[in-house]
Amino acid sequence: MREALSRGRTHPDHESEYRALYQRDRDRIVHSAAFRRLQYKTQVFVSVMEGDYYRNRLTHTLEVTQIARTLARALGLNEDLAEALALAHDLGHGPFGHSGEHALNVEMRSEGGFDHNAQGLRVVDLLEQRYARFPGLNLTYETREGYAKNYVRGAGAATRQDARTTRAERPRLALGFAPDESPTLEVQLVGHADEIAYDTHDLDDGLVSGALSDEQVRVVPLWRQAEDQVVAEYSVLKDDQRLRWRTVVRRLIATLVNDLLAETRRRLDAQDIRSLEDVRKAENELVCFSATLAPRKLELETFLMDNFYLSPRVREKTELWQERLRKLFAAYRNNPALLPDEHRRRAQTKGESLDRVICDYVAGMTDRFATRQWERLAIAD
Ligand code: MG
Repeated sequence: MREALSRGRTHPDHESEYRALYQRDRDRIVHSAAFRRLQYKTQVFVSVMEGDYYRNRLTHTLEVTQIARTLARALGLNEDLAEALALAHDLGHGPFGHSGEHALNVEMRSEGGFDHNAQGLRVVDLLEQRYARFPGLNLTYETREGYAKNYVRGAGAATRQDARTTRAERPRLALGFAPDESPTLEVQLVGHADEIAYDTHDLDDGLVSGALSDEQVRVVPLWRQAEDQVVAEYSVLKDDQRLRWRTVVRRLIATLVNDLLAETRRRLDAQDIRSLEDVRKAENELVCFSATLAPRKLELETFLMDNFYLSPRVREKTELWQERLRKLFAAYRNNPALLPDEHRRRAQTKGESLDRVICDYVAGMTDRFATRQWERLAIAD
């Protein structure tokens, strides 16, 4: 993506003398309230309950950004755009990780459900109020497009939403972006940087917390291979478990990154991709893992799903938090006067439904703020 080819911003805006287009997108994201709140939102563990070692959405986001920038630079893509996309990719998540998302989805069923990507777009287009000249952050088309297109189609998409979507569903999921255009290489890349980050850091968090064991992870071929390699290279790792885990995790990141780079270069070459137009027209994913690695990676993701995300230790909390969010939602429904003025006003003046306004407010909450509100409101009734 070249800045000269950008489809620009939604509202008229001035240009900066010394910052380029996507640099400004990045800066606006970093200065947003939603970005700061990521630090108290859960990735897998509920951060306030489980200790300070584990990833939260902010540290996850920073790891995704690091990997995305490395990939973008290695492939000669637009590093500023990749960075902005990565920093923005999780802004639409509510409190309490996937359990929170599930609860919001149930509450919002009459409105078509809750999707963190659609919510992310609402955050950057509407809910962030920082500028007198326009609502939202007025980001460029290309950065906003990440919310609609970070589910890439094609091979290796087995764990992604788009693998299950039909052509007829695409316009709805495209959130107003051209449904038949392929996403830019930068968008495709950030989707995979996200996977590389959580596939590997969730292993680390799982092992260190004791939710996963050494014996369990050795069942995963990708893990076992990497472990055999690093132990053969450094004998000290045989006896030092923590150092071994960290070395294996690092080796796994390198394995995934190197494979993605090689396969992407191969595809760009094989399909003679030379311009943005070529990328937009391409039928299949261009930034992609190889046919050898993709099934190995899927095994790892299935393992994490069965043994970590759905483990009793993580799930026990899941049900508790879902119940709390449902009660919180009900409290605001019963008494909308409990909502802050700015949110209530949107229901009155912008014609937004009460449920939508409650959802925007609740989805913006951090884990600990939602907990405090629940203690205040839901316990009381
Ligand atoms: Mg993410």
